[in-house]
Amino acid sequence: MLDLLIKKALLPDKKILVDIGIKDGVIVEICQEISQEAKHTVRAEGKLIFPSFANMHTHISMSLLRGLGADLPLMDWLQKVIWVLEGEFVSPEFVKDGALIGIAEAIRSGTTLFMDMYFFEEALAEVAQRAGIRAGLGFGILDFPTKVAKSPKEYLSRARAFIKDYKNSNLLFPVLCPHAVYTCSPDTYKKAYEIALEEDVYIHTHVAETQQEVKACLEKYGKRPVEHLYSLGVLGDKVLMAHVVWTEGEEREMIKATGAKVLHCPESNLKLASGIAPIRDYLKRGIHVCLGTDGPASNDNLDMLEELSLMVKLQKGVNLDAKAMEAKTALRIAAEEGFKAVGIKAGKVEVGYEADLILVDYKKPHFQPLYDPIAQFVYSAKSSDIDTVICKGRVLMEKGELKTLDQEEVLFTAKKWKDKIERFLMDKFLT
Ligand SMILES: [Zn+2]
Repeated sequence: MLDLLIKKALLPDKKILVDIGIKDGVIVEICQEISQEAKHTVRAEGKLIFPSFANMHTHISMSLLRGLGADLPLMDWLQKVIWVLEGEFVSPEFVKDGALIGIAEAIRSGTTLFMDMYFFEEALAEVAQRAGIRAGLGFGILDFPTKVAKSPKEYLSRARAFIKDYKNSNLLFPVLCPHAVYTCSPDTYKKAYEIALEEDVYIHTHVAETQQEVKACLEKYGKRPVEHLYSLGVLGDKVLMAHVVWTEGEEREMIKATGAKVLHCPESNLKLASGIAPIRDYLKRGIHVCLGTDGPASNDNLDMLEELSLMVKLQKGVNLDAKAMEAKTALRIAAEEGFKAVGIKAGKVEVGYEADLILVDYKKPHFQPLYDPIAQFVYSAKSSDIDTVICKGRVLMEKGELKTLDQEEVLFTAKKWKDKIERFLMDKFLT
């Protein structure tokens, strides 16, 4: 008996209709007709099947701050808006409620894994578990005090306890997140890296996001950010670096040599006017590139289809070369490369791969006529065409309806926080 059977889905590359059998979260059969019975069957006529997305860099609970400080550059946006509001509001309740909104959005747009970085991730874990989505729970580490800890030492000891709590969770895994070279000292990075090696967990950090960061790093340490981390000995194949917009040739060699991963966030980099990462060059050098949206307050959404469509067009545009990146490469980066970066065998519609899948409704005017399903998914489709989402064999959304979360609760929660945050901003503005 199968756990799940998908009937008559259109395979994008071969353009044939197939049945897909899933057991224990894994794809066990793909063929034209499966007659075996299943506990649950999803009819997929008129739908394309693709792997789901891996959003490799986000701060999902920041959905509660979406739309604030809309047109500011990174440092102004952080210092004048985000850090002020976070100082006032961030709490387990904020993280839990923000995660509810963000995870609902992520599922609706076809994501089944996200790598988060924030505070009170245990509150996020609760919602992720309820939603049935995969999440890298990133324990944020800074040198300055927040509600989580008062000193780097305290952050690190709490991080160690956090790792113990989540190490053996099914779809969740703990990750250490020293925030960036401008908020963490060399010593903090070294200690975090030591713990990561000891506990066998990933490091997730921000690197070389803006020119200003590079300049400050050069002034303080006499080295550029990647060079700085390399010289500290904290780059390795379990290190995931978000942004990596501003690098030079030698730094790129260091990334390649250590096996560190690049988490590309093109839309956030454009919106905050940070720049455009040299992704084509990274790929040419054999650097492992994944894709992320960044937080929903700097993007301003968690839409991976929009992100990958933007990525591929940016690479064509800045390189003045239509072959700089192809649609299928963009899809691979947004799915398989993300899962692979954290050791999950998913991101392909193939027997033996974990069943992290989406069904996409192509019976719509903007998707027709259907000649080249892969190119049209990348260039013509909208994430609202994503109809069904499956994570490790479990259906999280079917025919546009969330199965594990309640959309009414999501909207109610958003309204509650909007009122609270607007009241605070009003008081601050009036006094
Ligand atoms: Zn970020």
